[in-house]
Amino acid sequence: GTVLLTGASGYIALHILDHALKRGYSVIGTVRSTEKGEQILKNLHEKYPETKSFDLTFEIVEDIAVENAFDGVIKKRGPQLDYVLHTASPFSFGFTTTYEEALLKPAINGTANILKAVKEYAPNVKKVVITSSLAAVLDMDKLEDKSHVLTEKCWNPIEVDQIKDPMNAYRCSKKLAEKTVWKFVEEEKPSFKVTTVLPPLVIGPQLFDSDAKKPVLNVSANKVNVLLQSKYTPEYESYKTMSFLGTDVRDIAEVHMIALEKPETDGQRLLSIAGIYGDQLILDLINDNFPQAKGKIAVGDPSQTQAILNTGPTYDISVTLALTGIKFITLEQSIIDAAAQILKVKPEI
Ligand code: NDP
Repeated sequence: GTVLLTGASGYIALHILDHALKRGYSVIGTVRSTEKGEQILKNLHEKYPETKSFDLTFEIVEDIAVENAFDGVIKKRGPQLDYVLHTASPFSFGFTTTYEEALLKPAINGTANILKAVKEYAPNVKKVVITSSLAAVLDMDKLEDKSHVLTEKCWNPIEVDQIKDPMNAYRCSKKLAEKTVWKFVEEEKPSFKVTTVLPPLVIGPQLFDSDAKKPVLNVSANKVNVLLQSKYTPEYESYKTMSFLGTDVRDIAEVHMIALEKPETDGQRLLSIAGIYGDQLILDLINDNFPQAKGKIAVGDPSQTQAILNTGPTYDISVTLALTGIKFITLEQSIIDAAAQILKVKPEI
């Protein structure tokens, strides 16, 4: 079958692309420029030198936020499409415009635009999988309340007029984008089925080693990168004793493929949490497993690791586990693999 993958150049999307090609799908990726598509093909050829050609083409969608952003591409390629994976959405915080322009519009309008275009111009699409987020679910006021259980049914309470900082704006953008999905399904009754995938903070290696060379990685993957260089910026200092819910990027890619393939997931939200980690755990794992980094990077306070992990929220994702059958890679493995990749390409660390 043929899959349209939006935001194909992203950290998570590249792993989805890798999984889809390995499973024999024909992939059409949307990227923001011709160069981005060419770079992906070049990197694939470098990673898989035995493969002569990849069943992969690109289309340009410069900005998913503008009205009818996907119409041109879907009018052109729509009749070929069997599946759509919509991952494109902003997850970066260096913006200088408003929260509305930088986060809310691309997340919400981008989602509305793809659904509308697929309904209109891609009559053979059976399934649309949309990348939502734990951010759509997390109620920050209840983080420390152990009796509050995070499940596939939860939604964060943040409304647009309560947004005060970039993280809240992101959480609101992801909630409203996912609400847009379920409202569309209810009101428009499209012929395709829909599943949403909700990852927590995604960690693990970049698909391409060359991407791990970048000084700053994608927000979630950057944690291991920063700690490996022990640039404990004030921002990171404040995270030192916090715990995070995480999942390996390769598993998140796998959940997207399962969502695409398994009809049991139709109409479901897949809250895909592998476990709890924290900066101290990352420091412990790097110090214990990489002699070349030991002595150069921070040690922190390893006696606190378990206590920090114990502060994590309570969650119950039994619905997702039963529907997907996935067994998650441990976060220890994920952190070690990410650190090994960065040390390989940045030996100067
Ligand atoms: P990346 O920033 O690596 O990927 C985002 C992708 O979306 C990039 O290809 C980016 O293109 C594209 N994009 C962003 N804004 C626009 C726009 N206005 N128009 C066109 N394309 C756009 O982040 P991730 O891989 O982490 O994120 C992918 C998805 O996963 C997002 O939906 C995100 O919300 C979600 N997610 C991520 C989590 C994480 O921890 N990483 C956790 C939970 C959910 P370009 O790079 O060219 O700007």
